[in-house]
Formats: sequence, C-alpha cells, structure tokens
Amino acid sequence: MRRSTPRLLSSSPNICIVGGGAIGLSSALHLLQSSPSPSITLVERDSTYRVNSAVLSAGGVRSQFSLKENVECSLYGLEVFKKNGLNDLLKKANPSASPVDLQFMNGGYLFLSSTPSGSSCLTKNLKLQKSLGAANTELLHGEEVGREFPYLNTEDLRMGCYSKDDGWFDPYSFLMGVREGIKPRIREGKKLTEIETENNKITRMKIDGEWQAFDFVVNATGANANSVIDKIPNIRRLPVEARKRTIFHFKCKDVPHPDPTSHIPPLTVDPSGVWYRSTSALTSESSGDFICGCTPTEDDEQDAERHTDDIDPDYSLWEEVIWPKLYERCEAFGGAKVLNQWAGWYEYNVKDQNGIVGFHPDCSNLILANGFSGHGLQQSPAVGRAVSELVEDGKFRTIDLDRFKFERFEEEGGLIFEEGIV
Ligand SMILES: Cc1cc2nc3c(=O)[nH]c(=O)nc-3n(C[C@H](O)[C@H](O)[C@H](O)COP(=O)(O)OP(=O)(O)OC[C@H]3O[C@@H](n4cnc5c(N)ncnc54)[C@H](O)[C@@H]3O)c2cc1C
Repeated sequence: MRRSTPRLLSSSPNICIVGGGAIGLSSALHLLQSSPSPSITLVERDSTYRVNSAVLSAGGVRSQFSLKENVECSLYGLEVFKKNGLNDLLKKANPSASPVDLQFMNGGYLFLSSTPSGSSCLTKNLKLQKSLGAANTELLHGEEVGREFPYLNTEDLRMGCYSKDDGWFDPYSFLMGVREGIKPRIREGKKLTEIETENNKITRMKIDGEWQAFDFVVNATGANANSVIDKIPNIRRLPVEARKRTIFHFKCKDVPHPDPTSHIPPLTVDPSGVWYRSTSALTSESSGDFICGCTPTEDDEQDAERHTDDIDPDYSLWEEVIWPKLYERCEAFGGAKVLNQWAGWYEYNVKDQNGIVGFHPDCSNLILANGFSGHGLQQSPAVGRAVSELVEDGKFRTIDLDRFKFERFEEEGGLIFEEGIV
C-alpha cells in the first residue's frame, strides 16, 4: 500500500466539505490523517442518503481502465476496500472508531470483446494495468472464455479480460462506517445557502443560518456538482450533468457453473454494453441472484435537467434492452425473474467522462472533486487522499492527477478519454 505518511501541518486549516457521500467522507477521513488535524465541517443535505449515488451504485471496484490515473486510483481503492486499509485509516482518524465490515466479494471483472478493435484495446490496456501493479489479470482467447465460464455463449466472442483481484462491496456500510467513525472529529451541517467571496476566494459560507469562515472548501456534491458553483459569483460552471442509471435485481435458476462447490460469476461487461454480476456465489444448491444494468445510448439518456431527487427506475430498459442481451449471452438468463429495481444518478462529465480534481481556476480556495461519471465510488479513497494533499501541499504527492484539472477543458488537446466507461 502506498501510504501517505502523516503530514505535519504548520497551522490547522479550517475546511468545509460540501457533500457527505463517498468523495466527501473519504476527503474528511484522509484529511484527519494529518497532524495537527484540520478543523472540518461536513455539510450533507440528507443524512438518510436516499438519493446518494454511492448507496444506489453497484459497489464495483476494478483495475480495468485505459488511463493511468484511473488504474492507479482503483488500485488504491482496492487496497482500502479489500484489505484492512479502511480500518487502518479509521483507527488513525479516531482510535475508538468501530471497525467496518464492507462485505467485499472478490468476484473479479470480465470485459468481453467481439471485434478486433475491442480485443486490441483489451490487450493494450492490460499492458498498462500490469505495469501499474494489477498482477492477477489475464487475457482469455475465444474458447478459453467458454472453458472458464461455461454458462456464456462465446460464438461471437474474440477475447475476454479477467481481473481476478477486482470485486464489489457494500457502499452503505462504507458511508455509514466512515461517518460514524469520524463523527467525534468533525462538525456537521445540513444546509448551505450562501457563499461570499473576495478577490476570487471564498471567505464565508452561510450554513444552517450561520455565517462561518473557511480556508478551503471542497465541492463533493456528486450529481449536484453545480449547486455549489451556482452560489459563487463569476465562476465557470462544471461540465457535469446528472444522468440516470437503473439497476435490476433478478433471480435465475439453472445457471451452469464450472465448479461443483462454488463459483462467483464476475462482473461481466458484454460487448453490447449490458453488464451483470452475481450477488452471491453460485452453488449446486442455490439459484443465482444477479444485478445488471446498461449504458443508454446518448439519445436514450434521461433529461439531465430533471431534479436529482427523482430516482424512479427506467422500467422499460429490462424488456427492451437488457433481457434480450442477457439471453443471447446465457440461455439460462431467459428464465430470469426481476425481483427489484432502483435508479441513481451518475455525476456525468459531458466533456470527457473523467474526474475533475484540483483548485477551481476562478476561485483559489475551492477544491473540485467532481464528475467521476460512474467510477467515483472506487476512486473515492484516491480522490479523498488527493484532496488532503492539495490542502497540505497545494499539489498531488502520491497519484499525479494533474491531467484531471479543470483547465483541461479549455486547453487544446486537454481532454482525456477513458475507454472503459460502463
Ligand atoms: C446505478 C449506479 C451504479 C454505479 N456503480 C458504480 C460502481 O460499480 N463503482 C463505482 O466506482 N461507482 C459507481 N457509481 C458511481 C458512484 O456512485 C459515484 O461516482 C460516487 O458515488 C460519487 O461520489 P460523490 O461523493 O461525488 O457523490 P455521492 O455519493 O452522490 O455523494 C454526494 C452527496 O452530496 C450531497 N449533496 C449534494 N448537493 C448538496 C448540497 N448542495 N449541499 C449539501 N449536500 C449536498 C448528496 O446528498 C450526496 O449525499 C454508480 C452510480 C450509479 C448511479
């Protein structure tokens, strides 16, 4: 684990984090590793997390990305979520914090390709992932996919990339565990109504009716990212829109499994864009429980201007898009019965679908941690650590996220595209 050694701050800054979801809580947790501790106010509008994206997510962590920064962020995420990383951080922040069980399931990720270009992408990306430390990932050619996963129809497949160290966990336990653990070390607020600035710097914010002064402000408001920006005069908005994603939970008997005792089908990303994963191991006694979803086409994206409180699922996706593709890939999925469905909002960066991390160029003490476009949960440990580095040193110390700065949107060739957006 690339640990950040506790830093000695020359004075104790006063920081406000707006948004108490995955990114906000991780920022607070990492900031609390410093000595002397900064003073932190965490503003979360809804402590029940009813529409919080992390809680409504698939909880997945994967090292399979095409950009160096994304691979590095997820590898640190795996250390925090999978090993004892989170409990180590919690203990340092508050020695009496209770340990958290994230229920990490080491099911792996499997990306499938049916075209030569898809296969060369997987091959190129694997090289990068291995060079950065993703040791347990391998390419499977045509019939090897079928041997490893006999329930898949592999007729049209050319290749699969299977990362065995990846998996998924319970995001609600993460949020509640961190929030409870750091509670004695922070102040909490609920409603941010006004922001005052002077010389392109935030000076005071009105929280729950009271004006408070801060040295730094962190925007960690997920799909609602412009709610903070819109309270600050004369600064550029973020290219972040709320985009709805629906997840279906289905049960399915008779899914063939290769191992007589137990096998966890990995989170599988089909070439069609449909993905699915098990919620438990498949055994000869149990029928499979799965969750699944898909990436809508640009035309099918739900109106981004809709309020993010609306989390009604898009029911039609099951019959019209997902079920036919599942059946094509695995005959047993033809007998799937939907048990439940829910939806949440991606904090979608419409320019290049990658995070925006760094100081806002129009507001010198506003730190942006936005726009992760569906991979922010797994990146939250790395982004939280990056936020703490910006507060302490004004620059990144561990993972260099310089290419994620806001300024890239106006630089020629500044956009950075990720091939592995799901
Ligand atoms: C269906 C679905 C599946 C996903 N699957 C995955 C996955 O498998 N792996 C993965 O890594 N990511 C996944 N994601 C994406 C992931 O959930 C997000 O990237 C991540 O939650 C972003 O963290 P965040 O803290 O920025 O936002 P959130 O977790 O949404 O937290 C933002 C918080 O800010 C609060 N807030 C907003 N505005 C204000 C305001 N003005 N004042 C005070 N508080 C405010 C909100 O109430 C919320 O609690 C998925 C998302 C969805 C919707």
